[in-house]
Amino acid sequence: MAAMQYASTRGGVAPVRFKDAVMMGLASDGGLLLPESFPDVRDRLAAWAELPYRDLAFEVMRLFADDIPEADLRALVEKSYATFEAVPPAPDQAWTGPEPVPVRPCGGLHVMELYHGPTLAFKDVALQFLGNLFEYVLAERGGELNVVAATSGDTGSAAIHGLRGKKGVRVFVMHPAGRVSPVQELQMTSVLDENVFNIALAGTFDDAQGIVKALFSDLPFKTAHSLGAVNSINWARILAQVVYYFYGAFRTMERSGAREVSFSVPTGNFGDVFAGYVAAQMGLPVHRLFVATNENDILCRFFGTGAYVRGKVVPTISPSMDIQVASNFERWLCLRAGRDAATLRGWMETFASTGTLQIAPLPDGSLDPVLRAGRAGTERTLDAIRRCHAEHGRVIDPHTAVGVAVAEDAVRAGETAPIVCLATAHPAKFPDAIAQATGDASLAFSPRVEALKGLPTRKFPLPADVRTVADFVAARV
Ligand SMILES: *Cc1c(COP(=O)(O)O)cnc(C)c1O
Repeated sequence: MAAMQYASTRGGVAPVRFKDAVMMGLASDGGLLLPESFPDVRDRLAAWAELPYRDLAFEVMRLFADDIPEADLRALVEKSYATFEAVPPAPDQAWTGPEPVPVRPCGGLHVMELYHGPTLAFKDVALQFLGNLFEYVLAERGGELNVVAATSGDTGSAAIHGLRGKKGVRVFVMHPAGRVSPVQELQMTSVLDENVFNIALAGTFDDAQGIVKALFSDLPFKTAHSLGAVNSINWARILAQVVYYFYGAFRTMERSGAREVSFSVPTGNFGDVFAGYVAAQMGLPVHRLFVATNENDILCRFFGTGAYVRGKVVPTISPSMDIQVASNFERWLCLRAGRDAATLRGWMETFASTGTLQIAPLPDGSLDPVLRAGRAGTERTLDAIRRCHAEHGRVIDPHTAVGVAVAEDAVRAGETAPIVCLATAHPAKFPDAIAQATGDASLAFSPRVEALKGLPTRKFPLPADVRTVADFVAARV
């Protein structure tokens, strides 16, 4: 098989191999990296359906990470998922043994629990792997990486837990002081490793993000201090997420006897659902991928009308989906443009200058053969939480609930393939929403959250000023 190469969506980067793609993050021409082709694995699906999660992860990843020796890749996968709680399988799937990603029925739907990692959110699946991968590549090539990030909650804590203690890596995470949830703050500040710096910024999330942008666009500073990013545009994050679409489809086909499945994916930056799209391109029998959004519905509007129109961000009870411009959407646009970089660049320029992009529908009137979209606002999200608990004894978090509400709409609209709903966060991270929906905050319980309370913490309060933050970073690298 030919070596796997990665190209930028915007066509301005000579093809690179996997390790270079991971270290590059954002492509150097401002685009996103994509594999030049997707391997067709239809001849392997039956064999893959028998594999435990980690073996499956190895099989999927080695097709894309073919510049890492197999024994090393296997060790990276083992190490990355050893930090997950091993959950006993559902009684009808006892052959699998305890697994990091259980799939359980919930009424007529199937819920894939992606939140058994260290920070109780699905981002751990990718960031545990990315942290180990950074350490591995840096050990081989020398040098260091100083990750600088802004967070409104989930990404920062998953990044800190993925990078803590990794040799050659330091991580600086800015959160808006007093504006992240108490659980999220504790998940970050209770990490005392020497390579972790929690900056409590006197400002908003936008201030923090503005400072990150300023530091990264100061190229001499960026190069001199080996700055790196961990946001969801990193191809390794997408890759780690492709695995669970296979795993979830296999468990659901086994349980239901169906020959294809659909997924409902709580969506923000389009990284997670794009991973499902990759799995479908590889030959996994996916009928539909439902892009589920909250009130921040730019993607839902797009898949309904073909018009991608920037709006204003409104805060909701599913904050990790509160975005307007979805950073990974460019990857889908690139495929839709037939991988033609000139077309894609034209589209991106139009959107940047006018805030609007119009894509013509396919002959059947849809925008894509597989992707569909739906939206659930706050009332329906709370109602989904309430009903899941009352009717099925299951507690779901507000992000998951958006996906469940959209899946229920799909069933009403005639979807016949079984639907796997991605459970992207543990309800214990969002006790207020659980209390609001059910009247009982004690339902939002996790021993992992309780264990955080009273731990020693460390954080560095700083003013929202680029110079001060730059000096703080420079003094520590
Ligand atoms: C990040 C996040 C999402 C959105 O995922 P994207 O890959 O950005 O679409 C959904 N739910 C939770 C809990 C998250 O943390």
